[in-house]
Formats: sequence, C-alpha cells, structure tokens
Amino acid sequence: MTDLTIIPAGKSLQEPVFEARHLINGTWQTSADGASFERQSPAHLVTVTHAAKGGVAETEAAIAAARAAFDDGRWSRLSGKERATVLLKVADLIERDLERIAMRDTLESGKPIDQARDEIAGAADLWRHAAALARTLSGDSHNTLGDDMLGVVLKEPVGVAALITPWNFPFLIVSQKLPYALAAGCTAVIKPSEMTPSSTVILGELLIEAGIPDGVVNIVLGYGDPVGTTMCESEHVDMVSFTGSTGVGKAIVRASAGTLKKVSLELGGKNPQVVFPDCDLDDAADAIVFGVYFNAGECCNSGSRIIVHEDVAEALTEKVVALSRKVAFGDPLDPKTKVGAIISEAHFAKIDSYVEAAREAGAEIPLGGGALEIPGLSGRFYGPTVVTNISSGMAIAREEVFGPVLSVLTFKSIEEAIELANDASYGLSAGVWSRDVSTCLAFARRVQAGTVWTNTWMDGYSELPFGGVKQSGLGRELGRYGLEEYLEVKTVTMRIGRSRAPWVE
Ligand code: NAD
Repeated sequence: MTDLTIIPAGKSLQEPVFEARHLINGTWQTSADGASFERQSPAHLVTVTHAAKGGVAETEAAIAAARAAFDDGRWSRLSGKERATVLLKVADLIERDLERIAMRDTLESGKPIDQARDEIAGAADLWRHAAALARTLSGDSHNTLGDDMLGVVLKEPVGVAALITPWNFPFLIVSQKLPYALAAGCTAVIKPSEMTPSSTVILGELLIEAGIPDGVVNIVLGYGDPVGTTMCESEHVDMVSFTGSTGVGKAIVRASAGTLKKVSLELGGKNPQVVFPDCDLDDAADAIVFGVYFNAGECCNSGSRIIVHEDVAEALTEKVVALSRKVAFGDPLDPKTKVGAIISEAHFAKIDSYVEAAREAGAEIPLGGGALEIPGLSGRFYGPTVVTNISSGMAIAREEVFGPVLSVLTFKSIEEAIELANDASYGLSAGVWSRDVSTCLAFARRVQAGTVWTNTWMDGYSELPFGGVKQSGLGRELGRYGLEEYLEVKTVTMRIGRSRAPWVE
C-alpha cells in the first residue's frame, strides 16, 4: 500500500508504430544505407516508433538543400506578409492535428497526455506570434549624420540555421525555434532528439501542407554524432540553435568554432526559489510542488532548489510533503495523470544515484526516493521525493537532477538567500516568495538568472524572452529577442547627392 496518489494503467495501448523518415528537399526519405532505430514508450516498454537513422550523407544532403533554398531566395526574399501567411496556416494545422501530435509526444517521452495537449496548443500560439513578428520586423534609419548623409540599418536573415532539440518538450521546443527562424527568412535543418522524433516529422508534414517551398525546412533523424556534429561543423550552416544539456552545449560550441558560426544555446538549470516568512505559504507550497513534479522534473525550469527561511522551513516542508502525496503519478494516457514516466533506464539510474548519494552524506528524505510501481505498466516511474538537511556543497543541491526530486536548503537573512541562490554554475530561472514588493525586487535585481518569477512559478508567454546566464546558455528565445537571434545587422551608409570631398589633393 502507498499513501501516494497513483493512476493505474487504463485502456491498453492501441496506437500503431509511427514510421518516421527524413525530410530532405521536400521529399520523405529513408537512409541510403537502410539504417534505422526504434523508440519504446517509457511507460509501456513497447515499440512506438521506427525511424530512419541519419548519417553524414543524409545530413549533408539536408544542409545542401537548405543552402540552395536560402541562396536562391525562394523564402528569404519573400515579403513578411507572404512568410506570415504560411506560419499562420501552420498554426491552424497544428490545432487541427493537436491530438495526433500530443499522442506521439506522450508515447515517446512518457509525459501525461493532458500536459502534451497544452504544450501543442502553446506551440500553435508561438507560430502565430512569430507570424506577427514577420510582419513587424524593421531596422533603423539615422538622418542626423549630416545634411547629405543617410544611415540605414537593415535586418537580414542569418542564413541556414541548424536546430537541435531535446526530448523533454519535443514539439514545444522546435516551435520555440523554427517559426522565428522562418519569420526572419532563414532556412533550416532540424535534428530532433533520437528519443522523440515523431512530432517533428508531423510538423514537417504540416509545413508541406501549408505550402512551405521545398528545401526551406529539412529534418534529419538520428543521433548527436554524426547528425548534430555534422551540422555544427559544416561550412554551409550559418548558425546553430541548440536546446539541451550544458555538456552537449559546450561540445556544440567547440564543433562550431572551426567555422565561427553563430551559436544560440538554451541549456540546463538548477533553479532556486527563495521563500520568505511573510509569503502566502500555501500558495508557495502549491507552486513548489508544481515546479518540481511538472514533466516528472525533466524540465530545464524545474524549481528543484528551495531556499526557505529557517523560521518557516518545517511548516513549508510539511505542506510540500502533504501536497506531494496528492499529485497523481501514473498512466500517461489517463487525462487525470499529472506526472508520467521517466525517459530512459539510464536517466532513471542517474536520478536515483543523486538521491542515494545525498542519503549517504546525511541528508534526510521525508518523502520518496526510488521507483514507483504503477499497476498495469512495466515502465519506469520515480516517486515524488523531498530531500532536506542538505548543504549547498552537495551534488543534489548544485547539479541538475532532472527528476521529481526537491532539495530544501535554509537561510537566515536576505544576503544569505541571494548568496545561496547564486551559488551555482547555472543561471536559467529563479523565484521569490514574499508579500513585500521591495524584497521581491531586491531579489530579482541581484539574482543571476535569465528569468525571475515573483509569487508565481513557470508562467510563460510567447511575448516574453526566455534564456539563461552563466552556464545556462547564450541568447534568448521567444519575444522579439527570439526573432533577433536569427537576424544579422547590415549597415548601409548613403551619401545623398555628389557632396563628397575628394581625398586626393
Ligand atoms: P542532450 O544535450 O543530451 O541532447 C539534446 C540534443 O542534442 C539531442 O537532439 C541530441 O541528439 C543532440 N546531441 C547530442 N550530442 C550532440 C553533439 N555532440 N553534437 C550535436 N548534437 C548533439 O539533452 P537532452 O537529454 O535531450 O535534454 C535534456 C537537457 O536539455 C537538460 O539539461 C535540460 O535542462 C535541457 N533543456 C534546456 C531547455 C532550455 O530552454 N534552457 C529546455 C529544455 C531542455
């Protein structure tokens, strides 16, 4: 018996195996050598996807197609209105096919179906937002350089963009990149994670239906090496936009250095939430529980590091543990489920090793630690876990666990809280809980993070930029900054008339 909330397996899995192929220059292709790979549902441990496995040849063919499509202007020289028309059509098609896309993300990642539906709806909004930016994109003009001079700053597409995405939000993250790249006028080669290729393939189908010209968007399925590395090293790729782990982000910078291409990185986080005694503790506890268990904690924005004032630490921990028991863990295909399966056996072992190391180092574990049995499912589930009595030097307090595991640290003064919050190599997001706006603002201004939430956690909007500082990344996605990543600035300095003084006497 368990006092947790468990959703057992509902109806048996009926979905057919998805056949995923590369999209190269407008045609669907298998690999020349016939190589392929399979993906199992992490909740059911049955094969749900059979995918072509790309090599250097497929990647180079996709890059060549994107290069030719960029250079001949079939997309880059269209008007903003023409580009926006296609992006808006894609948004409509995403909404039409929402169920199909959500099902594939759920089957491959183990995330709950209702959450996947929300992500696909959010992705459609990103396509619409990017369409609006395509029509409002503008540069600058300078008419104060002297009577006979005019300076114009043009914004131009960077060129061919390689988009490399992770498994935790497959469709949402490709939609944080591709519509913005397309709005700017870039062409693209995409490599989805080998664990979650299908929804990106469906996106390719929708792009063709929406009328995207051949070669503008290409998709190569397969592994980081050789597909991702070939994209990074290629002299025909102008930019890499990557979302994934900090370790692979560093490898991408190294691989891109030979051609000095532009690199945009959205990496990991160890995101602190500082809880002051004057906050609404019930509100904070609910947001903390959401922040740590959402997507089974496999989330760059996981609010996995709580820094709570010692006066309320015990009360908050009790509330968090009590609420954790009410969170529905289980069958990802049941709409009541809030937390699904863990992505892979290896990742499950990594999560558990952090918890066990903390236990051995003297941490207390008032809740969880270890596997969760879900009746009727053979896959990997990790129980809701709260770890207390830890110090900031422990790995569990500093490194990205990427599982449903909360670390609780305590503080006495705001100075100590800010010091603890900034005591990490990451700087993705941070939160503060207090009824005092000056406390919130003081924290927001001094914490090293790309995003700060005050009295809330993980609210996201297409309009607001997102990205990290320190080792959480380079550049921003979303908002108008998300478009700027895919633009180069060109300065045109014009003399009006024939007023130039000769240089030669
Ligand atoms: P990962 O770094 O292992 O893989 C990401 C992608 O990179 C995959 O497509 C993978 O095949 C590819 N890849 C692997 N090695 C490569 C190489 N040498 N060259 C080029 N490409 C390579 O990450 P993951 O395990 O898929 O995702 C989890 C990580 O992503 C976590 O660290 C998480 O914090 C991070 N993440 C960050 C954000 C953000 O916006 N900051 C969002 C989601 C996930």
